[in-house]
Amino acid sequence: MRDISNDLLWRGVIRYGKNQATYKMALGHLLINYAKRNFEKIPMDDVASDFFQFYLPHVRPKEGMPRTRQLKQPRKDSSIEKAVWGYDSGKFTESQTIKFVKDNCLLAPHVVIPRFNMIQQKKIHAPFYRWDKSNLYLNDNILDIFSLKENQYLGEQVLSRFDLLQYTFSQSEFASNMTYDKNLEHIMNMQTRTNITKFKPALSGFQDDKCFLCGHSYQDDPTEVDHLIPYDIVGHDEIWNLEVAHKLCNGDKLDDMPHRQYMDRIIKRNEALMASEHPLKQKMQLEAGKTPQERRSRVENAYKNAVKKFNRSTYNPPDKNNLVDHTEYGEILRYYASL
Ligand SMILES: [Zn+2]
Repeated sequence: MRDISNDLLWRGVIRYGKNQATYKMALGHLLINYAKRNFEKIPMDDVASDFFQFYLPHVRPKEGMPRTRQLKQPRKDSSIEKAVWGYDSGKFTESQTIKFVKDNCLLAPHVVIPRFNMIQQKKIHAPFYRWDKSNLYLNDNILDIFSLKENQYLGEQVLSRFDLLQYTFSQSEFASNMTYDKNLEHIMNMQTRTNITKFKPALSGFQDDKCFLCGHSYQDDPTEVDHLIPYDIVGHDEIWNLEVAHKLCNGDKLDDMPHRQYMDRIIKRNEALMASEHPLKQKMQLEAGKTPQERRSRVENAYKNAVKKFNRSTYNPPDKNNLVDHTEYGEILRYYASL
């Protein structure tokens, strides 16, 4: 079994899970909050109650708004929806609701507590918690991750992914209708122009949460979504060409053509996203192609054409040695293979 750091293991679980429902992200959000407060043992009734409270505003019908969905299968009602409706209609008392959530959303063999600690189909070697019918016990690895201030952004990523999943499950034509606001900050629904979720966290995980251009951590410096091949050349916001960079680095690059090295980098980033059950996956397929070969030629042809037709200067990496290629995805893959 290969060695893997705690926080990379967490990112593997969140990014490369199965996501047939939004439950994994909801539980991930609760786990982070418990770990931040250093809770080692949480009564299962409290977990069920927190889980229910988290979902209430998402599931309760809102006037004039389309129904949100929590499951990938559009015709099935999820247990959490049944719990909220049962509670709101008076069919369940509060304690019956908690018991229903505990049994059907959390503890049943096919749902989230037995299945959270997995990457794809395999159980990870060091689960983030243990449990029995009465309690959830957090392990040291998760307590260590979230005691560090620099890992707090992982909470934002979990919620961003929750929103995106819920939104995708609620829309039949998600991939063809989605667009971004003009700052590329939020994903929007084309018809109503509603902001769905912050776009950066949804993309950033696949470039190791580091500036795409300089390869350094974001730290607290402002970032923005950038068109790798400049927008005035490509004329679109297709996802295969978008990355997250420091505002300063992006400012240095301006309308220059990126050095050729960045093309290999973006191809790898795109494939890391495609390996995930990510809501943006379908969008990427529509825009860049269904196979890795198609997607690679889409990027390479765009680059070739841009170099041929436009006489731009080249933006070179500020520090070549710092541009390691998305090591996280490769590391997670090697770890997965060793399980
Ligand atoms: Zn940078």
